[in-house]
Amino acid sequence: MPVQPALFISHGSPMIALERDGAVMAWQQLAQRLDRPTAIVIVSAHWETATPQITAAAQLPTIHDFGGFPEALYLLQYPAQGAPELAAQIAERLIAAGFAAQLNAQRGLDHGAWIPLRAMFPAANIPILQLSLQPQQGPEYHYRVGRALAPLREQNILLIGSGAITHNLQDWMLAARGNASALDYVPEFQQWIYTMLRTGNIEALLNYRSVSNYGRRAHPSEEHLLPLFVALGGAGINADVVREYDSIADGALGMDVYRFE
Ligand code: ZN
Repeated sequence: MPVQPALFISHGSPMIALERDGAVMAWQQLAQRLDRPTAIVIVSAHWETATPQITAAAQLPTIHDFGGFPEALYLLQYPAQGAPELAAQIAERLIAAGFAAQLNAQRGLDHGAWIPLRAMFPAANIPILQLSLQPQQGPEYHYRVGRALAPLREQNILLIGSGAITHNLQDWMLAARGNASALDYVPEFQQWIYTMLRTGNIEALLNYRSVSNYGRRAHPSEEHLLPLFVALGGAGINADVVREYDSIADGALGMDVYRFE
């Protein structure tokens, strides 16, 4: 049985689903190089709960959790199937690791999940489970969630964290008004993350808000970086780190894609 990697994907603006830019091409090329997974577990920045929840419906609705975008974006659907039995197994695994995990039989996929998955696995014929974030719990907690999920990779289950390497929406609006030169910290923080990942400096990564120069600026709130820690925990300390893609969208959003295996 193939062992799957853990991935981190920066999902960008919802418009990426219509524009199919370089990041989308990179997602697609990466997906084509993977062995076909039995199932996919994805953690996105856009589902926050107090304790971990796992989608447990047999069919997952496409959630258009964004406002003010063109009508065409709201018409997109990703008819993903769930995996209720696997959801129950994963909940047990998390409970055994000390997390108060619960099944959620109503929830579907938010845009941080379905937009990359739709590009990567357009046939929608691989069962998907989404796991929620607990942003108030911080990086180390999410790394431990990833550690608890790591054995799934050996069952041919692909683990994906979906967020952004930098995600300051105020700066994003500033850059949209042509003031992007103020955002030199964006490539600096991208490079800092890359260097820490390449050198396996988990300690620095977990403490990025105090250790790096621009952690707080790059992430005024943590939800878009926390999926990286789930992927990192899923990969383990000795994982090979490959940066599959890097760019900056709209002068402000780090679009890096990582593969850990
Ligand atoms: Zn997002």
